[in-house]
Amino acid sequence: MPVPENKFFFIDPNRCIGCQACVQACSECDTHKGHSMIHLEYVDRYESPQTLPVVCMHCDSPTCAEVCPADAIKRTEDGVVQSARKPRCIACSNCVLACPFGVPKMETSMELMMKCDMCYDRTSEGKKPMCATVCPSGALHFGTMDEIEELRPQSRPVNEFHFGAQTIHTKVRMMVPKNSRLTHLDVVDGMHGSDEPDEPDMMMDGVLFELPIVS
Ligand code: SF4
Ligand code: SF4
Repeated sequence: MPVPENKFFFIDPNRCIGCQACVQACSECDTHKGHSMIHLEYVDRYESPQTLPVVCMHCDSPTCAEVCPADAIKRTEDGVVQSARKPRCIACSNCVLACPFGVPKMETSMELMMKCDMCYDRTSEGKKPMCATVCPSGALHFGTMDEIEELRPQSRPVNEFHFGAQTIHTKVRMMVPKNSRLTHLDVVDGMHGSDEPDEPDMMMDGVLFELPIVS
């Protein structure tokens, strides 16, 4: 059964409280062999303990699959990019290096690339991904567009990302403040910020607009 067309995975970085519940839940998923396929990134360790959850974004044209010389990574018709298939993966790490979101991990003990497959065993049966079932703050949500509109009236989902000259569309949606000027997220801008004090940092302004800075 495919993942229902009307169900989407939404990430709202502003709501992440760094509790690691998603990380623990992911490692307990039947298909992950005790390894978590989600991790938390720190926004700016110097300024704040703020974290954001990182999962596979399930790109429409997945770079990881495009660079795989062994054809080990498949994108299913419902738009979910699967973890590498064991019989094919040659553990070359091309996908690890190529993914613009820094998602795939090489499990050297198994000589296998593993990554988030949006809990395909669950989502293809209409259930939520493990991480979304335990997130206490709503930073991870799996549901319909109508649901998210009702839950987050001040936010809107974005699924276009820019990495320099590369534009990527994803199945997973990132929540940004509704009134922000962003139609896409410039990830390179977010990583490096602006050296000019008067120039706004578009990604930080858009995605992390409401972050509480705790010092
Ligand atoms: S986010 Fe990375 S691992 Fe996921 S589909 Fe896109 S390129 Fe592949
Ligand atoms: S590590 Fe495996 S999945 Fe990744 S590019 Fe190499 S063969 Fe393909």
